[in-house]
Amino acid sequence: MQQEIDGLKVEFEQEIANVDSEKSLEALRVRYLGRKGILAGLFKQLGAASKEDKPLLGKSIHGLQKLVQETLDAKNAEIALSGDELTPAGFDPSLPGRLPWRGNRHVLAAALDDVIAIFHGMGFSVADGPEVELDFYNFQSLNFPDDHPSRDLQDTFYVDNDVLLRTHTSPVQVRYMENNPPPVRIIVPGRVYRNEAIDASHAAEFHQMEGLYVDKSVTLGDLKTTLSHFAREYFGPAAKLRFRPHFFPFTEPSAEADMTCFICGGKGCRVCGNTGWIEILGAGMVHPNVFSSAGYNPEEVTGFAFGFGIERIAMLKYGIEDIRLFLENDTRFLSQF
Ligand SMILES: [Zn+2]
Repeated sequence: MQQEIDGLKVEFEQEIANVDSEKSLEALRVRYLGRKGILAGLFKQLGAASKEDKPLLGKSIHGLQKLVQETLDAKNAEIALSGDELTPAGFDPSLPGRLPWRGNRHVLAAALDDVIAIFHGMGFSVADGPEVELDFYNFQSLNFPDDHPSRDLQDTFYVDNDVLLRTHTSPVQVRYMENNPPPVRIIVPGRVYRNEAIDASHAAEFHQMEGLYVDKSVTLGDLKTTLSHFAREYFGPAAKLRFRPHFFPFTEPSAEADMTCFICGGKGCRVCGNTGWIEILGAGMVHPNVFSSAGYNPEEVTGFAFGFGIERIAMLKYGIEDIRLFLENDTRFLSQF
C-alpha cells in the first residue's frame, strides 16, 4: 500500500502540471479530494490494514492529502492572477508602478563633496587630523598667546590641561607641515567643537573647511584668486569677494572675506542686512611663527590659509535658517536636498 501512495504522489504532480484552467483544476480536486475520491479510498483501505502498519500508512496518507490540498490552492491562486476575467474592476495593469522610497545624502555631506570637488580642481588634496587635540597644536603652535580669550573655558571644551576638543581645523596645518616638506596645497574638512550656547545660528559642534597653500612666493593675490574662484563655482558666476582687514593670531595680514549677496545681487535685502554683502570666511597669509613651529624656514616660504564653516555656506546657498536642522534628522528637511 505504501507503494501505491508513492505512485499516486508522482501521478498527482504530473497531472497538476498539465492543469491550465479553473475547470480542469476543479476536476482534479474532485478526483482526489471528493467524497468518493482517491484519498477517501485510501482512508477506507487504511481501515483494513494491520495494527503494526496503520500508524506509518496513516502518516503517509495524511502527507499526501496535505500536499494535494496545498498544491491545488497554490495553482488556484496562480490561475486567478493570470485570468483576465478575474482582474478587479478599475485595475489598470499598464499604469507605471510606484517608485520605492529612496534615501539621499545628507545635505552637509553633499555640500562637503561639492566644496572638495572645487578645490580638487585647483590642485588641493584632502588632509585630516584628530578631533581630540593637544593644546600645542590647537593654540600654541598657531601663535595664540597664553592669555588669548578663545583659550577660555567658556569657549573651549577641555579634556584636561593639555588636551581639548579642537576648536578649529587649523591644527592640521602644523601637523601636516611637520610631516611634509613644502610645497603644500591641502584642504582639511572636519568637525570642530565650541562651548557655545546653542541657537539658530550657533552649534557646539559643526564642520569647518581649512585650506593651506605654502610655496615660494605665494601672495595675497593668489589667496584672493583662489577664494574668488571658489565663490563663483559654489554660489554662481555673479559672486564677488571683498576682503576686510581682520585679526587672527596665525595669519598676518589677516582678512575676513565678504561675498556679494546672491539673493539680492548686492542691492540689499533681509539676508544680507541691507548691506549687499555676506561674510563667508576668514583668511590671511601664514604667520612666520606658525612656519617656525612646524619646522619651516619663514625666510624661504610664504603661504596663505583660510577657513570657513560648511554649515554656514550650505545655509547661505540653500536658504536654511536654523543650524539645528542639520542634526535633527527630520526627513521632511533632509529629503529636500
Ligand atoms: Zn542681499
